[in-house]
Amino acid sequence: MSLSHDLFARARVHMPGGVNSPVRAFAAVGGEPVFFERAEGAHMWSVDGKRFIDYIGSWGPMICGHAHPKIVEAVQHAAANSLSFGTPSPGEVTMAEMLCEMIPSLDQVRMVNSGTEAAMSAMRVARAATGRERFIKFEGCYHGHADSFLVKAGSGAQTLGVPTSPGVPKALAELTLNARFNDLDSVEALFKQYPDEIACVAVEPIAGNMNCILPESGFLEGLRELCDRYGSALLFDEVMTGFRVHPKGAQGLYGITPDLTCFGKVIGAGMPVGAFGGKAEYMKLVAPSGPVYQAGTLSGNPVAMAAGIANLELLGQPNFYEHLGQITASLADGLQAKADAAGIPMTTVAVGGMFGFFFSDAERVTNFDEAAACDLERFKKFFTGMLAEGIYLAPSAFEAGFVSSAHSPADVIETLAAAEKVLSEIAG
Ligand code: PMP
Repeated sequence: MSLSHDLFARARVHMPGGVNSPVRAFAAVGGEPVFFERAEGAHMWSVDGKRFIDYIGSWGPMICGHAHPKIVEAVQHAAANSLSFGTPSPGEVTMAEMLCEMIPSLDQVRMVNSGTEAAMSAMRVARAATGRERFIKFEGCYHGHADSFLVKAGSGAQTLGVPTSPGVPKALAELTLNARFNDLDSVEALFKQYPDEIACVAVEPIAGNMNCILPESGFLEGLRELCDRYGSALLFDEVMTGFRVHPKGAQGLYGITPDLTCFGKVIGAGMPVGAFGGKAEYMKLVAPSGPVYQAGTLSGNPVAMAAGIANLELLGQPNFYEHLGQITASLADGLQAKADAAGIPMTTVAVGGMFGFFFSDAERVTNFDEAAACDLERFKKFFTGMLAEGIYLAPSAFEAGFVSSAHSPADVIETLAAAEKVLSEIAG
């Protein structure tokens, strides 16, 4: 038996399901989770000493790879000065300046400690700004686990088959309206039904919590137009896509200006960080400049700011996004070619440093129903086979994959060799 097995047995005694976040438990793919103790660049080492090529990247933050020396140095320096002041400190100012400079739709930002907090707080601002209570989200999108969002949610909620969680008050859930991703008619129908009641449309501009689904041409533009027509705010949840798919986020990639945006992951480099921001007319409502209460003991934490600033600085290296995009595309194209050669229907997606693959014969997967119709059993076999080969993919068919600037062509070659072997086993 392994050290991972022993740890998981101990973990299950005092931790629900043995984990602190559900998808980590491997519920969707079977077997037991691997415990890790060290990582560097594109590689992670389990407690049993096995090396894996990592395509989760801590679910997005590790865009420069694990334990990047510049980030580690920044963190060590900040930590030596204090883990937390609970007062204003310089790193927060630098972070706010960097974010507002890099993302043109931001006049102001508020730092928080997770993507969940960012989405929850941005929603409160949208509701306060419009004086409305209902909002539209999309089936299979995930915006963290605040009550209002846990209605037909994606990610782990979907993986575990509890897209609408018990414990969410019915009265609150009734205010959450679900539309279909890439289906403007479904959004317009809700606006027509509640023309004066919708505070905002919240959307992952590239859906990353039902695998990886791109917006069809005109979809995001259409959302912008509908929000303008009905006086609603457009809220982009860029917790995953922010600085991952383009230096200006998905909003920069597609040229759409949202009213409010949520960030997380990359801006914290692995520290617990989130942020929400937007136009001054919205952000001036946030306490203490306005009446919308929002606070955090550790928000703007100096160590987290140091890590995030170092990460964002690294993104400015020459050709960073070109390299990231090329390596990610070579992985997705390679997987497609291996699946084609094995005669296994697969559709792959790559955008910036984010990718997805569906066991499906559809040319494109465009919404949650289509993602859910993919061959989940085949995914499970592929995941399990790849894990045995030392390739660490997300343990659910409803998650996107992440590549870092530390992934080399050799890592991709090794991954594709493993995929060839596993796919031929599945096909046989
Ligand atoms: N929004 C999106 C788009 C996400 O992908 C996630 C997390 N995967 C969240 C919000 C929630 O972030 P956190 O897990 O940091 O609370």
